[in-house]
Amino acid sequence: MKKTINFSAGPAMLPHEVLIQAQAELLNWHQTGCSVMELSHRGKDFEQYALEATQDLRDILNIPDNYKVLFLQGGARAQFASVPLNILSDNTTADYIESGYWSKCASDEAEKYCHVNRIKIQNDNNGILSLKPYEQWQINPDSAYIHYCPNETIEGLAIFDDPTFDNKTIVADFSSCILSKPINISQYGIIYAGAQKNIGPSGITIVIVRDDLIGKAKQELPSILDYAVQAKHDSMFNTPPTFAWYMSGLVFKWIKQLGGLTAMEERNRSKAEMLYRYIDQSDFYHNRIATENRSIMNVPFTSPSEDLDKRFVEKASQHGIIGIKGHRIVGGMRASIYNAMDLAEVEYLIEFMKEFEKTNG
Ligand SMILES: *Cc1c(COP(=O)(O)O)cnc(C)c1O
Repeated sequence: MKKTINFSAGPAMLPHEVLIQAQAELLNWHQTGCSVMELSHRGKDFEQYALEATQDLRDILNIPDNYKVLFLQGGARAQFASVPLNILSDNTTADYIESGYWSKCASDEAEKYCHVNRIKIQNDNNGILSLKPYEQWQINPDSAYIHYCPNETIEGLAIFDDPTFDNKTIVADFSSCILSKPINISQYGIIYAGAQKNIGPSGITIVIVRDDLIGKAKQELPSILDYAVQAKHDSMFNTPPTFAWYMSGLVFKWIKQLGGLTAMEERNRSKAEMLYRYIDQSDFYHNRIATENRSIMNVPFTSPSEDLDKRFVEKASQHGIIGIKGHRIVGGMRASIYNAMDLAEVEYLIEFMKEFEKTNG
């Protein structure tokens, strides 16, 4: 076991095997005698690598041919603006499903560009939080698209079904759950995700966009944000974050080698189930999300008091458990257990939790 186990929500831990490989080839990548960081993005080595990484992502997610895969910058936050600016066209309204912190941030940004129909879907049932299923979302027939977030990273609230709406474009912020399980891509118009949760280092953002949504942007949109420009230049309109792209490519290979997204989902579900099972049987720890909406990536929990939460975080760090403090808006603790984390590491956390409960319960 490594000395430190990183439960941070993002930037998050990366697969150990990937870090070892990056270390081994850091000074001499692909027999170039240089680090990948020092090479031109237009040189044949990097260009070839970038294409292969893109193809690996296509294979893993089973992305149909009528979608472009873009590797951009600016994180999910840039997409909060890019999405409306690229696809609103002459429409003046869009539906934004608000399930938690991040989806609300997306609405706030979109409101600069259009009328936002905010659809709040959180239910609080005696302190238990759940989300209305997509069949109950009050969609505006005139909206240009529906935006939602399948995994609210801060609250640990998730929607597992790929929503279907006839003749509606669905846009989804998959920042904290992309590659955690298979996705039916063809049900979406756009999927985007910052890399730093479940893919690679921060600095790169993946956008998967259906062809018919490209080229609808207004003339004044800065070229750098324009999907059409980025697609035409294979995401190299400006210098891309080559090292982050390289690392993401290694992660795609790692996922392929482990058996792809079905294997990932199995691995993620067993980790999450084990952790929730332990929390549920304990009188000391508590998670307030309804079973059907419990994230398999981010597991928030509390102890009986804020003082004990604070103590938990301190004690945990003495045991090599870091990044477990909850987000300030919800408090408590949060264990982010992305793809890179293995079962033994979650077991280690549970052992620590048991010990902490015994001495403080
Ligand atoms: C982290 C996160 C964001 C913000 O991502 P940036 O890359 O920092 O812009 C947005 N949405 C979700 C769901 C996130 O988890």
